[in-house]
Amino acid sequence: MIEIFIILIVIFLLFIFLTTRKYQKESLSNNVYSAEYYRGLNYLLNDENDKALKIFTDLIDVDSSTIETHLALGGVYRRRGEFDKAILIHQNLLSRPKLDRGIKNQTLYELGKDFFSAGLYDKSEKILYNLQKNKSYEESCSEYLLLIYELSKDWDSAIKLTKNINKDQIRNLSINDLISQYYCEKASEYQKDNQLNKAITVLRKAININDSSRRPYSMLFKLNIQSNPSSAIENLLNLVRLDSSFLVILANEIIELSTIHQDKDIDKRISDIILEFSSEDRFSPQIYEFMFNINGYCSPDEYINRIRKNVFANIFDNLYSEKSMNSNESKTNLDILTLIGENFLTYNCSNCGHSVRNHIWQCPSCNHWETFKPNTISDRVAIND
Ligand SMILES: [Zn+2]
Repeated sequence: MIEIFIILIVIFLLFIFLTTRKYQKESLSNNVYSAEYYRGLNYLLNDENDKALKIFTDLIDVDSSTIETHLALGGVYRRRGEFDKAILIHQNLLSRPKLDRGIKNQTLYELGKDFFSAGLYDKSEKILYNLQKNKSYEESCSEYLLLIYELSKDWDSAIKLTKNINKDQIRNLSINDLISQYYCEKASEYQKDNQLNKAITVLRKAININDSSRRPYSMLFKLNIQSNPSSAIENLLNLVRLDSSFLVILANEIIELSTIHQDKDIDKRISDIILEFSSEDRFSPQIYEFMFNINGYCSPDEYINRIRKNVFANIFDNLYSEKSMNSNESKTNLDILTLIGENFLTYNCSNCGHSVRNHIWQCPSCNHWETFKPNTISDRVAIND
């Protein structure tokens, strides 16, 4: 009985001894880890990235609890534009044996974003395409994949992916809106290759999927200016019904339609559309000139009545009428007319404010579609009556 008691005491003491030793060892290891970790942070703060990276990479092998830190560190490098370092950190993590599946997916996602930011779209696509099959990454990977297809102009893949998304929106953009834009991009490529019938077929698909998109109507209008003026006018009408600012955006093309055909009926139909859809914020110097000319080279009263609240329209009308009546035109008047004409129009993205000189369909700054609105001289310059 006493022997058993002594054995139990010995086992108990042995247990206490081993537990204390293990604790001391762990504590020592943590101290080493902490010291190294702070040394690494110090290097990072002093912009000695290579030394910081070396320490953090070594630490990964020491303690798996630093994985989250490294994921964050990789993200910091990516945001700083140091993509090679971000890629190195994430690839290093992935090379660890027995990596937890959740951490592995998260690291793959980060690596996909690194490749995307570095412009290595094929590598990024490969990773994100496989990862999007995982429910938790489906939406975020699809967003990046769509951007990759847009940037690499792979419109077929963009259409295929968008059609498979089981949501109404992605990147805050309507799915049907996006598919319609991708069809328009395809049509634009057919147009460049002079395959006009294919372009028209694809534009009809764009309208079928989203009949409130301005772009297919605008493209069909331009495509038909030369060969089919009736269809051009029909598409122009559909377009300005959706958005009358296209009277200003497409002023040059509208004049082109008239100039090419020199046909009174066509001019009458164009002028009817202009009168129906013009308003004070839809004044355009080119449209004014067109209306002036078809009005027998006189001030176009009916048009002016529609836009009379626009101060620039009145200035333009006065100077223009004076110019046509007076053969010894004042140079100052001509200069003002040229100045207004040349500086009349720029475009601003309604989503992010990015400004461009010529109208485009996708904002290069925020990647949204159909967000550029005319910003006319009347919007930019305030004149007190
Ligand atoms: Zn924008």
